[in-house]
Amino acid sequence: MIQGKTALVTGSTSGIGLAIASAFAAQGANIVINGLGASHEIEEERLRIEHEFGVQARHSAADMRKPAEIIEMVIEAEKNFGSVDILVNNAGIQHVAPIDEFPPEQWDAIIAINLSAAFHAIRAVASGMKKRNWGRVINMASAHALIASPFKSAYVAAKHGVAGLTKTAALEFARHGVTVNAIAPGYVWTPLVEHQIPETMAARGMTRDQVIHDVLLDAQPTKEFVTSEQVAALAVFLASGNAASITGAILSIDGGWTAH
Ligand code: NAD
Repeated sequence: MIQGKTALVTGSTSGIGLAIASAFAAQGANIVINGLGASHEIEEERLRIEHEFGVQARHSAADMRKPAEIIEMVIEAEKNFGSVDILVNNAGIQHVAPIDEFPPEQWDAIIAINLSAAFHAIRAVASGMKKRNWGRVINMASAHALIASPFKSAYVAAKHGVAGLTKTAALEFARHGVTVNAIAPGYVWTPLVEHQIPETMAARGMTRDQVIHDVLLDAQPTKEFVTSEQVAALAVFLASGNAASITGAILSIDGGWTAH
């Protein structure tokens, strides 16, 4: 089912996206990785994916804040590999601050990268997926697509938006062999989480340890971080034939957080 297909994973130079790109490569998919970072480190990861899994991997440096670059990324992928069969909208950033101190440019960047980029990418792959009567779109939501936390206004708004976009696209593509789902992880230990610790310490007046145990893991009844590999395994399942009837779903993988 996945062997020989092409998976484009946005924001896959790090964290969850890199794990998802590797997991699809392990299933025999050719991969387009995307994201920021030092070019020699990205090239190392690209080569690792090719050598470890015997597939082709390319990197797109498209900036998810720029719709024209997102469209170009999809056109390039279709030109190089013939199609984009699996689209994972994963790129995301975070900023933690009270609303009255929240920098408007951070609001704009979070909405652009975490929400609008998914719209532009889905729009760009839609006609090809419909024509081939097969496609998988997986949007990286968050527990914050279902519930809120203070000081994360832009992120929570963007992720709730991702849930709405997921449901709408699922309805539109349902008769075209294309499923659209969102994964809603709880806290996964990645650079995105590590970077928000100092901001959360400032916003809540806490130490690093207090933030990890009383804010992050406090939310998760299991008291364990979700792993990137667990999220990637769910993405692979959503692309499989057995997941053909799952569409428009927001799938929690959050150690019980949203069961509260
Ligand atoms: P990360 O910081 O490790 O990775 C983010 C990726 O996005 C990187 O590859 C980065 O280069 C890329 N990116 C950032 N800005 C970009 C831009 N302008 N253009 C292109 N790429 C850009 O973060 P992560 O934790 O792996 O997060 C991945 C996704 O998972 C995000 O959508 C995040 O909201 C979501 N998520 C993370 C957690 C968590 O606890 N880590 C929980 C729920 C949801």
